[in-house]
Amino acid sequence: MAAISRNYQSALGYKFNFIRFLITSRTNKHERLTHYLSNVRTGSCWFAANVFLYILILTSCGNVESSRSEFALGTVCTITLFEHGKSRVYDDIFNRIREIENIMSVNIPASDINSVNASAGTAPVRVHDDLFNVIESAYYYADLSRGAFDPSVGPLVSLWGINSANPRIPSRAEIRETLPLINWRNIELDTETKSVFLKQRGMSLDLGAIAKGYAADEAAAAARRAGIKRAMIDLGGNIVIIGRRKDKNPWRVGIQNPDGNRGSVVGLVRTPEASVVTSGIYERFFEQDGTRYHHIFSPSSGYPADNELASVTIITQNSMIADALSTAVFALGYEQGSLLLERLRGVQAVFVFKDRSIRTTKDANFILTDRSYTVSNP
Ligand code: ADP
Ligand code: MG
Repeated sequence: MAAISRNYQSALGYKFNFIRFLITSRTNKHERLTHYLSNVRTGSCWFAANVFLYILILTSCGNVESSRSEFALGTVCTITLFEHGKSRVYDDIFNRIREIENIMSVNIPASDINSVNASAGTAPVRVHDDLFNVIESAYYYADLSRGAFDPSVGPLVSLWGINSANPRIPSRAEIRETLPLINWRNIELDTETKSVFLKQRGMSLDLGAIAKGYAADEAAAAARRAGIKRAMIDLGGNIVIIGRRKDKNPWRVGIQNPDGNRGSVVGLVRTPEASVVTSGIYERFFEQDGTRYHHIFSPSSGYPADNELASVTIITQNSMIADALSTAVFALGYEQGSLLLERLRGVQAVFVFKDRSIRTTKDANFILTDRSYTVSNP
């Protein structure tokens, strides 16, 4: 087993993360290679590992690559095709990911989402089908979580600068002024014209909690279209597994230890083909005067969601749903979050608490590996 997660400091000075996972004992050639590459990717070895990867590809595989990593959607995206990994297929998958990024990223000035935000309070904007579908789903999960997950969280994300190089604690007055702008009910969707209208001036959408999941689903679809039967899509920890392991055993996905170094895990989730997505307090944060301020906000308080949870992992078939739910359940906290999950079918969860206890939903197949944690299912 190898479960690798890293937190690199990019040349631009902001942090990005990615979670690598699994690969267990009996593996085929590509799987072993992925395992090996995962292990050599320490921060300082990143460049060397990639050079190594290219040499290996050129010398032994022709135009077949065992794995490819690129920076997209604000994170490291790694695609591993366990069979028939033609360069052309990797190109198709990454093209699809970039297409989605160009539409949905608030960091790309010409994106559709920025057009919607720029027209807040003024006019509806006709958007790409991809974006319309994601906003529609985001609206649904905002409703389901009664606004704990809210795609109109944009003004709060900007106020805290949590996704920027200079995050800061805003004043109470600033938070008070910003909160009325956060309300998913003020997103108007026209299914006929596929247009989106933000009813209040100053509102803005931020799809950071759901777009990676959608992109992971679309990347998986692109792989399947190319005839790929077994693969792993890892968009900064949004994982989609395609197919079965060669030895027919379940896949094992490591769950990051929220208190540990990148790559250290509290345990493993065993699952067949599925998506596994985690939201946690360790992904993106800053610290001031001994307090940690992380990137999942409570839209009601305007502060980072502060509850007993350190992370929530959702396991289900659709990665966009897993992504939305991991953020929603994290923001709701354990009690409310579990109640929400009980209403859904085919969704499993692992909750890691700050006090180092772990709970899972009944059907989750979780194996504890770090004995400093305890599983305390009710
Ligand atoms: P990650 O981006 O690490 O995978 P999440 O999926 O939980 O983690 O998304 C967190 C991101 O979602 C934040 O960086 C921010 O852009 C946005 N966000 C923060 N709080 C909320 C919220 N309550 N509802 C919806 N989106 C949020
Ligand atoms: Mg999410």
